[in-house]
Amino acid sequence: MTVAYLGLGANLGDARQTLKDAVVCLAQQHTIAVLAKSSLYRTAPIDAGGDDYFNCVVKVSTTLPARHLLRLCHTIEQHFGRERPFRNAPRTLDLDILLFGNSCIEEADLVVPHPRLTERAFALVPLVELDHEAIIPQRGRADAFLAGVHDQRIEKVATHQCPFVAPRDGRCGTDSDKLDT
Ligand code: ADP
Ligand code: MG
Repeated sequence: MTVAYLGLGANLGDARQTLKDAVVCLAQQHTIAVLAKSSLYRTAPIDAGGDDYFNCVVKVSTTLPARHLLRLCHTIEQHFGRERPFRNAPRTLDLDILLFGNSCIEEADLVVPHPRLTERAFALVPLVELDHEAIIPQRGRADAFLAGVHDQRIEKVATHQCPFVAPRDGRCGTDSDKLDT
């Protein structure tokens, strides 16, 4: 079982809804458990035209090897109508592997940690939101790169927040006690 972080982005069609549906789609895979999802962010396109993007990051655990996870990401992108007419084209869904455990992979069609992770606020900010102490293998703490992307426009989108129920041994909060009774 490997813990991985996936970056989701969309700026074509009903992008917000697509991101929600894509997270559900990931959760429905028997090879994947979605452990946590970041807030939804609205971000400026980088090196590209088109509408603003919506982005989020999910933390998953998976039984899949990284290569199979990439194939699954591509299958889900296709399901949501992804086309690649040119580099950095607007997209209905982009699903990238940001981190895969502490693996470092350098293959022609799979590079992990994602090569642009440290340069992109839309990936870095939600990653650090999910895990303040996230470590990027061979690069160090993810939050150390935030200063370098501070000029990229990114804003948190207000969404309905579900109540968070801490695990029993988490000992953090009266809300969970109330819900328990
Ligand atoms: P973008 O780089 O904007 O995400 P694409 O989604 O079209 O563009 O991806 C281009 C290629 O990047 C894919 O065909 C895939 O093989 C490759 N790639 C390499 N490393 C990764 C990774 N960590 N996650 C997702 N795709 C990756
Ligand atoms: Mg991609």
